[in-house]
Amino acid sequence: MIQKVRGTRDILPPESRLWLEVEAIAQRVLGGFGYEEIRLPLLEPTELFVRSVGEATDIVGKEMYTFSDRKGRSLTLRPEGTASVARAFIENGLAQRPSPLRVSYLGPMFRYEKMQRGRYRQFAQIGIELLGAATPQADAEVVLALHTFLAELGFDDLVIVLNNLGDPEDRPRFIELLLRELAGHRDELCADCRRRWETNPLRILDCKVPRCRELVSATTPVAEVVSEEAQRHVDAVEAMLRGLGVEVRRAPRLVRGLDYYLRTVFEVVSPELGEDTVICGGGRYDRLIADLGGPQVPGVGFAIGEDRLIEVLPAAFRERVLGRRPVAVLPVGEAAAGRALELVRALAVRGLSAQAEVSGRSLKAGLKWAGKLDARTVVIVGGDELTAGAVVVRDLDRGEQQEVPIAELGDFIARTGEA
Ligand code: ATP
Ligand code: MG
Repeated sequence: MIQKVRGTRDILPPESRLWLEVEAIAQRVLGGFGYEEIRLPLLEPTELFVRSVGEATDIVGKEMYTFSDRKGRSLTLRPEGTASVARAFIENGLAQRPSPLRVSYLGPMFRYEKMQRGRYRQFAQIGIELLGAATPQADAEVVLALHTFLAELGFDDLVIVLNNLGDPEDRPRFIELLLRELAGHRDELCADCRRRWETNPLRILDCKVPRCRELVSATTPVAEVVSEEAQRHVDAVEAMLRGLGVEVRRAPRLVRGLDYYLRTVFEVVSPELGEDTVICGGGRYDRLIADLGGPQVPGVGFAIGEDRLIEVLPAAFRERVLGRRPVAVLPVGEAAAGRALELVRALAVRGLSAQAEVSGRSLKAGLKWAGKLDARTVVIVGGDELTAGAVVVRDLDRGEQQEVPIAELGDFIARTGEA
């Protein structure tokens, strides 16, 4: 038997309904904030991620699905969305459009990681990017859109944590201080961090090894070393969000796993998954587009891990979506087979959903099938009722049934059925 690739998942019905519903709400809420979908390739030149995410990050260093195509070009299955948005912004001359540009994206990302709960090799992200505005208000809007989306899904226990990474100019000063403060404990750091010391010291702050964390927790937080301008910026973001009723918590040691962020960075954590399993990450990246050879266009955005989001969906949401029960349409007698399909079509074009029995079951076997489907409403098509232009609608829960004229079936199902 051929099995799926390690780290990929089959999302089966009815679980897939949760995904569709989450995505529909994302489109509605984020669309409501003015973010329209941009659809980008899953395959990009490897260099795009090396230059944007950063050579010395975990993503580029060890997590990318990179291969040579038949002409020997190095391609990579995208590990994240922002780099592609920046590339598309430059390539399509989107700087010519009214600024700022608001776009959303949704779809699979690929990272070669160790599999565990909430960590897959193919996973999906839902994200937005706001390109062309550098104000604190732009950051606040992005976080507000995120917060509104999560609230629409029914979450009330998620926490938004925020930090200030300062500007790239602040970084050498901070890194020097960090390394000075850690210098006495250099040997105690994990092998990865000892390597990061040389290649990308900021990543030491992101290490999950307990001893590294302990050592890092005694160092001066990055937010205390940033310029006054950067400080004013992130303070203003925070104040604006408070004014909007969005609770954010400062996390002085939060850094993100990608090099392009500056000033505002944030994450969403769930008490259920714990602090190591982040639902969403985001922040400001004012140099990214210019670094990739484009115009000086600032940006801010977030990416939600859809797999993780779905794992912690509020029970009420799950029940509402998974609790929907099908309507079964049961033809009795050969003459009714085509009529059953006709009824399904009529219901389908009204936006209702029903399943026809197409295996030639008898009435008795058909009712058993409907029961297994967990249908509540069964439409029985055939016999004298059909000749008279009617069907029998049976409520399996109540064990009651009644005759309904075919012309009124849609209204009847819309009123009483679960579809
Ligand atoms: P982590 O620290 O958990 O590795 P990350 O910082 O690498 O996350 P980002 O690159 O910021 O993650 O991606 C944004 C979101 O995408 C994460 O918050 C998470 O919800 C989701 N995500 C990232 N990697 C995976 C993965 N391998 N499997 C499932 N979801 C993921
Ligand atoms: Mg990661």
